[in-house]
Amino acid sequence: MASLLLTGGRVIDPAQKLDRTADVLVVDEKIAGIGTDATAKAAPDVERIDVTGLVVSPGLIDLHVHLREPGQSAKETIATGTAAAARGGFTSVVCMPNTSPAIENAGTVALIREKAAREGKVNVFVTGAITRNIAGEELAPIGSLKQAGVVAITDDGHCVQNNELMRRALEYARMFDLTVMDHCQDYALVSDGVMHEGYWSTTLGLGGWPSAGEEMIVARNILLAETTGAQVHCQHLSAAGSVELIRAARKRGVPISGEACPHHFTLTDSAIAGGDIFWRADGKGVFGFNDMEQRPAWPNYDTNFKMNPPLRSARDRDAILEGIVDGTIEVICSDHAPHCDYEKEVEFDYAPFGITGLETELPLSLMQLYHTRKMSLPEVLARFTTGPASLLKLAKGTLKAGADADITVIDPNREWVFQRGESASKSKNSPFHGWTMKGKAVITIVAGQVVWSEQNELTAV
Ligand SMILES: [Zn+2]
Repeated sequence: MASLLLTGGRVIDPAQKLDRTADVLVVDEKIAGIGTDATAKAAPDVERIDVTGLVVSPGLIDLHVHLREPGQSAKETIATGTAAAARGGFTSVVCMPNTSPAIENAGTVALIREKAAREGKVNVFVTGAITRNIAGEELAPIGSLKQAGVVAITDDGHCVQNNELMRRALEYARMFDLTVMDHCQDYALVSDGVMHEGYWSTTLGLGGWPSAGEEMIVARNILLAETTGAQVHCQHLSAAGSVELIRAARKRGVPISGEACPHHFTLTDSAIAGGDIFWRADGKGVFGFNDMEQRPAWPNYDTNFKMNPPLRSARDRDAILEGIVDGTIEVICSDHAPHCDYEKEVEFDYAPFGITGLETELPLSLMQLYHTRKMSLPEVLARFTTGPASLLKLAKGTLKAGADADITVIDPNREWVFQRGESASKSKNSPFHGWTMKGKAVITIVAGQVVWSEQNELTAV
């Protein structure tokens, strides 16, 4: 029997409202117990890892990741994307279906699940498309996608514009007990916008992507969730108005939810005018950079700050943070969107949208929410565990006895510098290169196996 005992850590399990110093025993891929009886039950030859002074959390879950397989393996593969996940402390990821071909039939779902079982370092859950080829014209075979094992449907990267078609999708999804995740973008309003519509888009001469382009679809989704009773989850919220709409709808019991990404609650649109301007205009609230000298520099029009939806104003950033704090937003995710350097090294208008995020997600969240004292550590960890697990009904995100032994060991106070060259992702398109981070996953355990540890990486070099 393979067994492992983590000793002396601060065990935080939001699912059990547990927060205390204890040992955690793993036997045969499952959590066998926590606390004194765990220690007593452990075999004398059990492998022990001393985690005194560290936090032992249920394995973190990221429900919005682009693994780029099949078809775009120059950007990322299941092997490299899940290696980046493990390095960032994630034991489960949910991959998006906008691959080529798109994940829109049972065969492609099976292919990815097989490949992930063989090559994935962490658990991979698969989503299927809402519409055929993500073209927004006719529905994908939602029933057979469910049978093939998808955990949700989404046209992420795209957005179903036809409200009637979206209504049908929600009706099917409800029938098959599937959550619908939506990338909220009204194409007519957004047109060819590449950054938030406002002062900086005018100043920089770039096409604006207005907040209303997101809010319009969030409002549509609320109305359709209410009409059909299906659970709709609004992806990567960026605008204050979206948070307000969801807050009010949830109050009256609409099955609507939302997620937020660290770049949207750390950066603002002024970052596209360059590092100096960002730090002066909007950077004061960003934790840990009171000292001018420590502040990372970057040029204007840096395409690593181009993503969809775009970075918005400081007011929007505050509203997202407030939504996370008050529970309107129960899920934090990365929208990890790898692109090759040659694709990003073009004019701002022509660069693809998206940034990598798996390895910076936890520290940025700790910096903006925990180290600023907006939330407690258990509250932040709930956004990475119980939040995503309950939305998608995954049997993950807890350290209850009998649960899968997926565990993340975290040093919440560790200061370190993120270097894009050290990333395990195949792509390096991160805006956070050179940033001093506070907080880090140090050991990632999936089904009782250490799949990544800082110690091993250091000794391997
Ligand atoms: Zn998206």
